[in-house]
Amino acid sequence: MASADDTEGTLTPVDFIQLQHYMEESSLRVKDVIKEFHPGGRYAKHTSGECLHLEGFCLFLKTYLEVESFPPNFCQKLFNYFQQAELDGSPKRSTPHGGGVFLRDVSCYFSVLEEGQPREKLEFTFKLYDKDGNGLLDSSEVDRIIAQMMRAADYLGWDVTELRPVLKDMMTAIDVDDSGTVNLEEWVKGGMNNVPLLVLLGLRMTEKDGQHIWRLKHFNKPTYCGVCENMLLGLGKQGLYCNCCAYTVHNQCANKNPEPCARTFVKTKEEIGKATHDWIRADCNASKCQVCFKKIKTLAGKHCVWCQEMRHDECVVPGVPKCDCGDLKDHILPPWVIYPVSKEEDTNLLSVTPDGHILQIAPILDTHPLLVFVNPKSGGKQGERVLRKFQGLLNPRQVYNLSNGGPIRGLHFFRNLRQFKILVCGGDGTVGWLLDAIDKMNISVHPPVAVLPLGTGNDMARCLRWGGGYEGSDLKEVLKEVKDSRQIPLDRWSIKVTPKNPQDAGDPVPYEIMNNYFSIGVDASIAHRFHSMREKHPQKFNSRMKNKLMYFEYATSESFSSSCKNLKDCLSITCCGKPLNLCNSLEGIAVLNIPSMHGGSNLWGESKKTDGAPEAVHSEVITDHELLKTATQDISDKRLEVVGLEGVLEMGQIYTGLKSAGHRLAQTSEITISTAKALPMQIDGEPWMQPPCEIKITHKSQAAMLVAAPTKPSSFFQFK
Ligand SMILES: [Zn+2]
Ligand SMILES: [Zn+2]
Ligand SMILES: [Zn+2]
Ligand SMILES: [Zn+2]
Repeated sequence: MASADDTEGTLTPVDFIQLQHYMEESSLRVKDVIKEFHPGGRYAKHTSGECLHLEGFCLFLKTYLEVESFPPNFCQKLFNYFQQAELDGSPKRSTPHGGGVFLRDVSCYFSVLEEGQPREKLEFTFKLYDKDGNGLLDSSEVDRIIAQMMRAADYLGWDVTELRPVLKDMMTAIDVDDSGTVNLEEWVKGGMNNVPLLVLLGLRMTEKDGQHIWRLKHFNKPTYCGVCENMLLGLGKQGLYCNCCAYTVHNQCANKNPEPCARTFVKTKEEIGKATHDWIRADCNASKCQVCFKKIKTLAGKHCVWCQEMRHDECVVPGVPKCDCGDLKDHILPPWVIYPVSKEEDTNLLSVTPDGHILQIAPILDTHPLLVFVNPKSGGKQGERVLRKFQGLLNPRQVYNLSNGGPIRGLHFFRNLRQFKILVCGGDGTVGWLLDAIDKMNISVHPPVAVLPLGTGNDMARCLRWGGGYEGSDLKEVLKEVKDSRQIPLDRWSIKVTPKNPQDAGDPVPYEIMNNYFSIGVDASIAHRFHSMREKHPQKFNSRMKNKLMYFEYATSESFSSSCKNLKDCLSITCCGKPLNLCNSLEGIAVLNIPSMHGGSNLWGESKKTDGAPEAVHSEVITDHELLKTATQDISDKRLEVVGLEGVLEMGQIYTGLKSAGHRLAQTSEITISTAKALPMQIDGEPWMQPPCEIKITHKSQAAMLVAAPTKPSSFFQFK
């Protein structure tokens, strides 16, 4: 954040980093947001001519960065920056009339930050520092950069004593012609070769295969530098660590030609299928060499990034034995099955690396390569950590960040494999997103999907035995569970809401497909309030436990309106053409596909044992009271369970586990609900208010899911 000694109107590296953090959290693209400020857009009235005034600019930031409030002084600083900057390099123009900023400047600036390669971003930073705008950095400006970078480093938790000499050296080295000043070209060239600087600026350097994916890491045990072979010392014991191959170096040693990172694909077709180890220098820490069986001294050996085998330098001989990819062999997509093809062979161009290779996968026998999708925005910082760890455990080319273009690229890359599995890391919404994408993809085999639940709720993950939320356990164990999991079909339902009065459509319906549950009335009403409160006060809802307590508070609060009383009078239900009898006390209806709701509550409840008597016959619809007692839930039976809810108090009791279930009304293969007044509704946890309408839920398809092997007796749900 801006500190007191900043000169007004300048952006500091800390500001720059902060802005990038904000952008990483946001899912919007600047070009879509800017559209709303152009004539005909939602916010067109905030624009005057081609300009934005301060107020409009703040609105833009809030919208674009998806935050409720953006620090006003930061907003003012950015605004001042845009007023002063000559972003397109043209000679100084007159500032917009009345002191606004140009829309196109704002648009250009943020699109470079979104899409820019390190080179473009470095050009940007140069312009930030070149205060007098003469195209040269003089010694005072260079000193200023160093001071500012120190602050930025400090902000990121770097040990600045180690960084100062690196930056000093760099600035000297950059001035190639010894002129005492640095021009743009010198700056960009020097910057591109300065790894700590690039990491500091948050620039990813994954242009070429063989480049490490660096990140700053603090080590809590003695660790050695792969370049100078000295220990990482100092307060923080920090250095740069490669996410992919675990190679570790001092900040200052990252510039001294470290060994390259492991290859992630082969360059020629001849290498396809040739399983060779990829040896990377490693801190072997007295492990045994698997060739001569003697201990390996620190840094006297290497490890293979695929099979994790360790050897002495002198025991690394090419050829036999082949790399078998070790414990994770069933999941790893090894480099020798990935190869570049020509533009004619893949016209979709969805699997292009930043340095221009179009990659394809050769068929592999007897393994199930895992395609991993991570939603880094799920579960606080947990998502990012999971993403990093999987990049190290597997081939980074099989691990996809969902905020980077969604699931399409990954699915396209794997499309020709006959056998593969998917692991999706995120909340239930992320799972639904992926299932939709698979449906829309034209792939020959629909891969089965396992879930690593991040964040709270996660009803889908719960009933597939993946748990309610990942808490940081060893991801190798998670991969083992995926390997031992079993495939099961999951029903998916299409839900069609037709308003009775087309002019009165109300809020948009959140989804057209239901994976988990749908409800009307009391449950949805609580969810609606809960949802809007959570948007307003996220800090109150930052843990699963708190979520449950808050839910209980809403469910039982006196002020809770009785809008759902006498639900019977304003709604009618038919199941497969059969009208349901509803009782007077009813205040809510829930339609269930899976046996978990709002983070683990089960509204259907345990079923009575049938004592050897045949189970309720599989029929399209069951409404008989006695038969319903023995009817069990099954996520693959193409049937839904319909439950009646009596009121706020009962809901509170169910959510907090004081009561086990609602009232069973029906088990059915389709349902039509007609409402006569506006009522709160929700699909898969997304609530909205819906004016009078007809809702029809019918079976859509089945998705292939993976269910984890039982570890402890399941409390409420048994798979056949
Ligand atoms: Zn070193
Ligand atoms: Zn590496
Ligand atoms: Zn190996
Ligand atoms: Zn050896």
